[in-house]
This record gives sequence, C-alpha cells and structure tokens, in this order.
Amino acid sequence: MTAKDLKKRYFDFFTQRGHKKLPNASLVPENDPSALFISAGMHPLVPYLLGESHPSGKRLVSNQRCLRTDDIDEVGNNRHLTFMEMLGNWSLGDYFKKEQLNWAFEFLTSPQWLALDPQKIYVSIFEGDKDAHRDEESIIIWQEIYKKLEIKAKVGEIIVPYPKKKNWWGPVGETGPCGPDSEIFYKTGKPHDPSFGKKCHINCDCGRFVEIWNNVFMEYNKTIEGKYEKLKKQNVDTGMGSERVAAVLQGKETVFEIELFSPIINQLEKLSKRDYAQNGRPFRIIADHLRAATFIISDGVLPSNKERGYVLRRLIRRAIRYGRTLQIKEVFTPEVAEVVIKIMREEYPELEKNKKEILGALEDEEKRFQKTISRGLKQIEKHKKLDGKIAFYLYETYGFPLELTEEIAQERGQEINEQVFKKEFGEHQELSRKGAAQKFTGGLADHSEEVTKLHTATHLLQAALRKILGGEVFQKGSNITAKRLRFDFSWKEKLNPEQIKQVEDLINQVIKKNLPVEMEVMPFKEAQKRGAMAVFGQKYGEEVKTYRVGSKEKPFSFEVCGGPHIDFTGKLGKFKIIKQEAVGSGTRRLYARLEQSA
Ligand code: ATP
Ligand code: MG
Repeated sequence: MTAKDLKKRYFDFFTQRGHKKLPNASLVPENDPSALFISAGMHPLVPYLLGESHPSGKRLVSNQRCLRTDDIDEVGNNRHLTFMEMLGNWSLGDYFKKEQLNWAFEFLTSPQWLALDPQKIYVSIFEGDKDAHRDEESIIIWQEIYKKLEIKAKVGEIIVPYPKKKNWWGPVGETGPCGPDSEIFYKTGKPHDPSFGKKCHINCDCGRFVEIWNNVFMEYNKTIEGKYEKLKKQNVDTGMGSERVAAVLQGKETVFEIELFSPIINQLEKLSKRDYAQNGRPFRIIADHLRAATFIISDGVLPSNKERGYVLRRLIRRAIRYGRTLQIKEVFTPEVAEVVIKIMREEYPELEKNKKEILGALEDEEKRFQKTISRGLKQIEKHKKLDGKIAFYLYETYGFPLELTEEIAQERGQEINEQVFKKEFGEHQELSRKGAAQKFTGGLADHSEEVTKLHTATHLLQAALRKILGGEVFQKGSNITAKRLRFDFSWKEKLNPEQIKQVEDLINQVIKKNLPVEMEVMPFKEAQKRGAMAVFGQKYGEEVKTYRVGSKEKPFSFEVCGGPHIDFTGKLGKFKIIKQEAVGSGTRRLYARLEQSA
C-alpha cells in the first residue's frame, strides 16, 4: 500500500464517520508569531481546541505537512524526518476515548482497512500522578478491544503505563485544557539495540517499536491554583505519521525505503556513484533535508540568516555537507529537488508551479555556500590555534560550519571545545527551539520563550530607567523566571508613582513600535566605543555579541549580552512593574512582568 493509498483510506474511514476534511495548510503558520513552522496537524487547530467553534463542525480530519527541526539529529534512524505528513482526526467536544480507540484499532487492523497484524500492536497510557489518576478508562477500552481478538492485553506488557513526560499533553501556557494520551506502537522485526539501554520497552529509542499514532484526550482543565478539573467540553486530538505507517505497511525497515523516498535515493546513488546500502545515514539525511527544503521554499521562504530562512539555510547546507562526504562535487541540490517535485506534485500542484523558484533558490544557496567555504578556508589559515571561540567567530562572520572547522582542527592535531562554541551559539539554539514546538504544544509559548521575552524586556527596562532617572542608573543584578523579571540597579530612593508610570509608558511605546532586536558580533573595544552597556566587572572576550533595539545611529537600547532575545519588541505584550524594594543602600530592585496586550 502506497502512502497515497494510505491517506485516501484514512480520509474515507473518517469521512464515513462524519468528519469534514480540512485543507493541508502552509508550513508557515498563520497568525502565530510564536512558531516558525507548523509542527503537528493540530497546530492550525489550537484556537478550536481551546474553545473557538470551528466552521466545519465538531468532527475534523486532515493531512497536514509538518516540519520538526527538533528532530534534526534523529534523522538517519528508521523513523525520524524533519519534513513529514501527519494524518489526524479531531473531536471538538463530540466523541471521546471509547470511539477514538476503537476506531484507531479498527482502522489499523481490519482487513477492510490497513490489515496490520494486531499481535504487533502495543499501546501506552498515562500512569497517573498527584494531579490526575491513571487512565483506567483507556486501559479498560483497550482490554475490551484486544479481547475481541482473543488477545490477553496485560497492563505492563501490551498496555504500558508511562508518566506525564511521555503520556500527557498541555496545557498551552500555565492554565487550560490538558490531558492524558495513548500512543500506538508497531513492533518491527528489528532486534533491540543495547546501546539505548539494557531493557527494551515500547518507548525505547532503539526504534524496535515505532510510534505510529498518538491519541490525545483533552480531559482536564488546569486552573490557576494548579488543580485539574474535568472539562465539560472534552476534545480528541490525534496524529499519525503517514511515512511511518506506509513503511510498516510495506514491510520496510525505515521510512526512507518507501516509494516517496526511493526515487530520491536512486538519484543520489547516480550523483555520488555510491551505494545507499553502504552509506545509509548520509543518503537519508540528504534526502530528508532537501525534501524539507523543497517544501519550505515552495511555501514562500528563502534562505537567510534569520528565523525561517535560517532554518532553511541550515537544512540545505547540512545536506550539501553530507553530499561532500559522498564526494558529490558539482551543484546537485536542484537535481534532487526536481525528483522531490516529481514525486509529490500530484498532491501538491504548487510544487510544479513554484519549480523555477525552488530550483533557483537551491542553486543560489549552493553556490553561495561554496564561496563561503573557500572564504572561510582562507580565514582559517590566519589562525594558528583553533578553538571554540574562533570556530564560533568563523561561523558567525563567514557562515563557516563548525564541522568543517573541527575537521581542519583534527587534521592539525588541535581540538575545538564544543561547549565554548555552544555557549556562544545560544542565540541560534533558541531559534531551533522556537522552530519546532514541543510535542503537540502547537508552537505556543513555552517557558524558555517567556524567559527570552523577559530578557529583552530587561534591556528595555535598563534603557528606560536611564532615560527617565538619568545616566547614573546601572544594572547591578538581574534574575528572570518564566513569570517575571527582577532587576537591581544603582539608585538611592524609592521611585514615585509618576516615575513608575513614565518608565512603563516608555517601554510600552517601544513595544508598540515593534522594533527589531538586532544582534551583532564586534570587538569589545568597538562595542564600548559605540556606547554599549556592559555589566561592570564582568570579563568579556575580545569579540562580543551585542544586542541593539532601535536604529544604529540612535539606539533605544544597546548592550553587550550573550542572548537569547526575542526578534521583535512587538512580541512582548504589555510591560508592567509589579513591585519595588530596596536592596542595601544605593540599590533598588524592581519586579516586572509582561501581560498579554489587548
Ligand atoms: P517520537 O517519540 O517517535 O519522536 P512523538 O511522540 O514526537 O514521536 P507526536 O508528537 O505524538 O510524535 O506526533 C504524532 C505522530 O507523528 C507520531 O505518532 C508519529 O507517527 C509521527 N511523527 C512524529 N515525529 C515524527 C518525525 N520526526 N518523523 C516522522 N514521523 C513523525
Ligand atoms: Mg518526537
């Protein structure tokens, strides 16, 4: 059964059961600045799962293209892709666990539908904790389902309990709908790989069991007091990776052997004059990344150094690097994209329509990267001793990949401290975290993002205090949690209500203007010359990162800082000072938070 047949059957099955088909939306989310890409089928549905009524009704089904940069390091194993197609069905306050689990099992195992061997199906359920009890309901439903086929489904063997970390969804933010989920796994013929742990279990990362379908039950509402109350309007939210299920149906060892990938792999064999069988990992990475890049460009993104463009650039360049390891010397990414377009165009006619742009963007990027590499190689000659800081500098200034610096260091018998590189790299890591929202949080703000926003707000606060109170104000200390910032600064007296209001108003004006927050690497001396704020007494390296809000000539805020920061001030919401106190003589402390703007 091809992936195409699978998708058709999924739609048939659920439309027969009253579901309305939704369109396959762009990878670039609409009206959601908190996420770079759609990372799950439910992502475009978040507002409806939180209570908005959906124009198509209470039963929905879709096939949604998704991008998960979080999984980039997993790509190459038997089941992880960055770009994938997720099938899903939803109940918005309509049916619940019993219907969903019965349907899921029927669809997977009935000879009329997918006819998978029920003996190879395993499921996980939520084990319970202080907030919510074990999901007994799902256990009973599963046991009845298995019993009909005379399979004795023991808890701990076929129905396996896991804690919140694995089997719980939500809430999005601090409060709201959340609940247990039940994931469905397929046991492959692969033996356990002990390097992933002594004992195999269905969630073991060795990939002997492949998770094929997640069923989320939004059963509770988490209140502001942290209580879990039963929701009146309970939702079902599911996601099934179509490539994984196609691989299972076709008896293939990995997703890369299904018909959506084999022509790409064949093309790579031709280009490299090497066998896939001997070079599995690089072939898979190139195939995945260039398939993803083809779709990202088609959805209107071009390679750049920021946000979506940066993710795209990273995927293309990583594919090229692996191409190099296969000794592919000429420009090859457009040729691979052509194959991707051919495979996918029937379902995505826009790929054919955007073909010229896609191939052109890839060719440009590949040529640019080749230039980058030769320029970087020249620079590298100037550094006798390579280390993490230089590696980051080369990366930041010339886009020269860490892996290549490492390769050269190795040839010279030197070593790059990756920790140092990673520390400098903070900013970009933040990007990739933002790029792929955590599992099913629909890309909405997680804690690290709240912290990032408050960090930017701290810069605005220091600048505003200096403008309102005067240039004697200096940062003495700073501490940020997901909920508030705390800022200590040199000042002797209590701020009066009018000063507080002036500071708040000034910051909120800057937020409203939606100014970009720009990072620039420069020598520390130059940063000082240009008036950047730095923390007194702190040791800085020769090259430092600076963050600027506002114009280069007259910035509102300009600080030496490691990041991370949000990219535009408009994302901060509304700034509010909530408390002030004295800390010793000559130092005041302010607490502030960001509220959602109206
Ligand atoms: P895993 O633990 O295997 O990474 P997950 O728990 O992250 O999976 P979900 O977020 O529940 O997966 O996504 C729903 C479904 O989408 C999964 O059951 C799986 O079939 C599919 N899926 C998830 N991540 C990927 C991926 N990187 N590549 C291909 N399919 C995926
Ligand atoms: Mg995952």
